[in-house]
Amino acid sequence: MEKNKTSYINLNNARENEQIAVMQKIADENHCPFCPENLMLYHKQDILIDGQYWLATYNQWPYHHTKHHLLIIYKEHATHLADLADGAGSELFHIVKQLEQQFAFEGGGLALRFGDTDFSAGTVNHLHVQLIVPDAMAKDFEPVRVKLGLQWERRK
Ligand SMILES: [Zn+2]
Repeated sequence: MEKNKTSYINLNNARENEQIAVMQKIADENHCPFCPENLMLYHKQDILIDGQYWLATYNQWPYHHTKHHLLIIYKEHATHLADLADGAGSELFHIVKQLEQQFAFEGGGLALRFGDTDFSAGTVNHLHVQLIVPDAMAKDFEPVRVKLGLQWERRK
């Protein structure tokens, strides 16, 4: 049986064909695409903020109906909240405040999913925060939904 879930990624949660192709390559290499030493191999977006614990960048595969979809990625391999350094929380909020000012976000949300990707519905099993500003003024706008948990039929 084809195995879509490794220690580092879960293709069952991938959304776009190009994302699936890149992630399949990463799965074959069996390394973590968000660890800094690998990030630059696959991630083609600018780094907006490079902090002590986190770096902020654009999501390579933004969700539909988003005006801004940024990722704030922990700079060491981490999957559970307990893996985070004590100072990481305050730096995270410092970064999101900076981004809010820099981009003049009208409003949106933060999503921090963690742990087993069958539960988090994350594609990459490395702690990251999504900062999402919906494209709410667009005519064809539909609400942006962040999923938690993967349905049984999609697991393989
Ligand atoms: Zn990692």
